[in-house]
Amino acid sequence: MANITTQSVTSVHHWNSTLFSFKTTRDPGLRFENGHFVMVGLNIEGRPLMRAYSIASPNYEEQLEFFSIKVPDGPLTSRLQNIKIGDDIFVSAKPTGTLVVDHLLPGKNLYLISTGTGLAPFMSIIQDPSVYEKYEKVILTHGVRDVSELAYEDFILSELPRNEFFGNEVRNQLIYYPTVTREDFKTTGRLTDHMSSGELFDRIGLPQPSPSDDRFMICGGPSMLKDTCEILDRWNFEESRQGIKAGYVIERAFVE
Ligand SMILES: Cc1cc2nc3c(=O)[nH]c(=O)nc-3n(C[C@H](O)[C@H](O)[C@H](O)COP(=O)(O)OP(=O)(O)OC[C@H]3O[C@@H](n4cnc5c(N)ncnc54)[C@H](O)[C@@H]3O)c2cc1C
Repeated sequence: MANITTQSVTSVHHWNSTLFSFKTTRDPGLRFENGHFVMVGLNIEGRPLMRAYSIASPNYEEQLEFFSIKVPDGPLTSRLQNIKIGDDIFVSAKPTGTLVVDHLLPGKNLYLISTGTGLAPFMSIIQDPSVYEKYEKVILTHGVRDVSELAYEDFILSELPRNEFFGNEVRNQLIYYPTVTREDFKTTGRLTDHMSSGELFDRIGLPQPSPSDDRFMICGGPSMLKDTCEILDRWNFEESRQGIKAGYVIERAFVE
């Protein structure tokens, strides 16, 4: 099938018993915008079994990176979690998606609101130097249940600020805001509650968001998406549809 390419797994990292990341080779012809997703899959009994995956690596990297859940009885991830370096993996040839900065109107602050594996597309976006030219502040939020699910925390806090090309911008402009719901942590509770109560904005020292200054990208499970959109709609933000620029964009991190 021409729209599916066969790539090779180049590294695998298990964060905990429910989450892992992996890198693959990249087809030289694959072009994508940061925030896009592709279909990723394995050959199961002679047929490709594919699922949507946000690309977690930025579009200038030679390899592709993905951040995955391990669903114990999930048709794909019950197998995908066992991949090893050198294994073949299918990657679709046509990345797509609505979670791109180009669908947003210009603004001052860019909020990236994620839960769970919804962090994946934002890992790509925070490694895009042009995002720091377009926005004064980039606020990356990540809501999880347990502290061990705060994947990429060390990369965000230690490695990215030392990036030789845009580390300076990251240090001055990127704000990382993790929250945990089921364990003790410096910030606990649901992101949507932190938004509604204003706690999120108080803690990071930014004003209550306004449709004139602020832009939002949202990626998470269906109920988190619904709740976050309701908050933004209440605040008079408009969702981008059919590529028409607006105040916020969303992508479903999975379908229930
Ligand atoms: C646009 C889009 C982008 C996606 N990007 C990613 C990604 O970057 N990383 C990723 O792990 N998954 C992502 N997903 C979900 C992914 O497509 C699969 O659902 C997931 O890999 C599980 O596949 P499965 O065959 O094992 O189980 P499925 O049969 O696909 O799912 C079984 C059940 O597990 C739950 N579930 C599935 N995925 C998740 C998840 N990510 N987090 C929490 N619960 C989940 C749901 O309740 C689902 O009904 C994305 C989905 C969409 C629509």
